[in-house]
Parts: sequence; structure tokens; C-alpha cells
Amino acid sequence: MNESTSMQSGAAMPISAPIAVNRNTFDAVMVPTYAPSALVPVRGAGLEVWDQDGNRYLDFTAGIAVTSLGHAHPGLVEALCAQAKALWHVSNAYTNEPVLRLATALTQATFAERAFFCNSGAEANEAAFKLARKHASKHFGPTKSRIVSCTNSFHGRTLFTVSVGGQPKYTEGFGPLPQQLTHIPFNDIEAARAAIGDDVCALVVEPVQGEGGVLPATKEYLQALRDLCDQHHALLIFDEVQCGMGRTGTLFAYMGYGVTPDILTSAKALGNGYPVGAMLTTDAIAATFVVGTHGTTYGGNPLAATVALKVLETIQAPEFLARVRQAAQNLVAALQAIIADYPAVFSEVRGSGLMLGMVLSEQYRGRAKEITRIAEEQGLMLLIAGPDVVRLLPALIVSDAQIEEAEHLLRRALDAFLAVPVAAL
Ligand SMILES: *Cc1c(COP(=O)(O)O)cnc(C)c1O
Repeated sequence: MNESTSMQSGAAMPISAPIAVNRNTFDAVMVPTYAPSALVPVRGAGLEVWDQDGNRYLDFTAGIAVTSLGHAHPGLVEALCAQAKALWHVSNAYTNEPVLRLATALTQATFAERAFFCNSGAEANEAAFKLARKHASKHFGPTKSRIVSCTNSFHGRTLFTVSVGGQPKYTEGFGPLPQQLTHIPFNDIEAARAAIGDDVCALVVEPVQGEGGVLPATKEYLQALRDLCDQHHALLIFDEVQCGMGRTGTLFAYMGYGVTPDILTSAKALGNGYPVGAMLTTDAIAATFVVGTHGTTYGGNPLAATVALKVLETIQAPEFLARVRQAAQNLVAALQAIIADYPAVFSEVRGSGLMLGMVLSEQYRGRAKEITRIAEEQGLMLLIAGPDVVRLLPALIVSDAQIEEAEHLLRRALDAFLAVPVAAL
């Protein structure tokens, strides 16, 4: 701060050191909804992250499929800083140029003709479920309100989205819950046929289940859901919050399947770490949300929209997506080589594109977290997807050298994991 600024703002501000914090501070001052790792990241570049002590890690998590263009992507930093100097925020009484550009680009790139913006995946799904209910109510009356979703699915943590998500452990104690929700097993066409009647307003599915264990839907399943929704005038919603934005090797996963939803939700990688969510739909369906029916203060904020547009422009380039598919092939080959050498630990690798899970064998069930903790000690950041799956979600810009390094670090981690005597656990 220079002399004249501090004079203008009145009394000179004392220059104080930043508040000293470490991992223990979390336990003292944060609501304990998470159990974060002992390391506190302070800086990132591409797929590399450094902690408070200067240790370096290779990041194969990208948040959770969020920083798909890597940490501190120079093009995104530049776009964000330029917009920060121009305009941060206007209320919804005004629109803004970045959000109009983003909506134009998203509708040009997809089946959709309309976009609604919010700040997270849960909010995008909340908007989708509210829109589906209101749309059915408008066209068919109030009894067509049932929403069908899959067990082990994940759609967010608001009361509505967490109730639609099929994991009872996340709704326990939060009742009374929203009504008229039905859960069916994933990838089971007969169960879907039995569940969809004329009282159903929408069916929501993740084309590739993320939190539920990295499970791709079959093409036949998604096509059957499309047909059933058409027969019963229900809307088909694809939750692409995790599997969208290039993760599976196409801009959105539905494009790879050749099955088009009525509503698509996006978030996570859309902002590469800047909070933003989007709900995409058609003209006809969007017309239900007239002025005043839904909204949010920050949705479509100029900063978020600027970043999201830059992300979209980068990821949708055909040569970028071709490289994602190539990197995915190389990573799968590396993981299969590991499984061949550690057949007692893993049974298979599954997933789509750069959304991959290594499934633990019967003998090592429930120990995914332990493996990721040991991998972190070796300098490799990994995720789990439930207790039995080690999940890999590297940034889409991952290089072949980084894939090789991850393979090497994961092998070291597995050797360390197997060296721990059972009695010591
Ligand atoms: C992460 C996720 C959400 C929730 O997104 P938030 O931004 O955490 O609200 C919803 N659906 C899927 C498939 C997700 O992976």
C-alpha cells in the first residue's frame, strides 16, 4: 500500500501478518462436515500441487473432476483477471455480456436452446427438478409429480437433490423429505419400465455414475430410458455435473451415447474451480420458467461466465477431445498393467474416458481409502468412489509423462500397502 492511498482511506491500517493456520485449525473452527487430508495445498500448476511444507504432489483428482484444464491455467487466469478489472457483478435486473456469450456458445455446442445459470451442481439439479415438476403441472396437472432416479446416484446436497440421490445414508435425520420420489437400480431396463408410469414427470440419471463407483450406463439403457420417457410424457434429465465437459472424451457424455436428454445439468469442470453451474434445455421446456419462477443472485455472474466460456472454448476443440481419448487409452493401458501385476488387489478397471475406477477384489474390499492415503504419502493424489473403488480423475491436459509417473507412484504405493502387516492395521 503506498503512502497516499493509506492517507486517503483515513487512519493508516496496521500491516498485520496473515492469520497463522494449519490442518489443526480445521478441527477448531470448521463445521466438521469433512475429514480433509493432513496436507494443506497452497499452490498448483497444471497437474502439480504443493503443500504448506513445500512438498509436491501429482494430482490425479482435479478436485473431483473440476480443474480439468489444470491448476492456474494461464488462459483462464488472464480471462478472469481481465474481467475482474471490468465488471464483477450486476443483479438480475440487468444481463451482462459474458453470460450472453456463454449461453450462446453452450446452446450452439449442444441440443439445448436455452441456458439457466447457478453456482453449483446441486443448484443446477434443483433447477432441473423444479422445472420438470412445474412443466408437468402446467401441461398435465398436479398429480404428475413423481421423479425417478437411480440407487447409488448422486445429485447434490440440497434437501431436494439429496432426496432424489439414491443414498439413504445422506438423507438420514433430515426428514420430512420431499415426496413422490422413486429409486430404481442403475442399468436395469426392466426396473425402469416397471417404475415409469403416467404420474412420472422426470427421470434423472448420470450417464456415468461418479460417486456411486464409476459406472457407465449402457447405450441400451439410456436409449430405453429415452423411449420410456417419450411414451409417458416424462422429461429425461442427464446429470453431467461430473461426466460432462470433456471428461469422457466428448464435450458431453450424451454425445458419445447418441441419446439426447430434455434437460442437461453441468457444473464442476464448467468453471475449472470457479463456482458455476448450468441447466440446459429446449425452448419448449424453458418456456415453463417464466419471470419470477426461479432465480439466484450469483447465477450467470460475469466472472463465472467469463471463465466458463474460456473453458468451453478450450475443451470443445476437436483436437483437444481427440487428445483426451488418446490419454484415456494410455491411462487405461497403464492401469491394466498394474492390475496384471497386482491381481490379488484389483479385479478390473472401469469407467469412460478419463473418469476411471480400479475395483478392489473381494479380498481387499473396503480398503480404497487406505490405498489413496498411502498413494498421497508417495506424492500421488487419488480419490475413492465408495469403499471399494480407487478413482482417477486427472485433469484432461494430462501428459503421457504424467501418466507414466502416476503408474510408477501407484505401484510404489501398492508395494507399501501390501508390506503393512495385517496385525498393524
Ligand atoms: C458433484 C456432483 C453433484 C453436486 O455438485 P455440487 O457442485 O457439489 O453441488 C451433482 N451431480 C453429480 C453427478 C456430481 O458428481
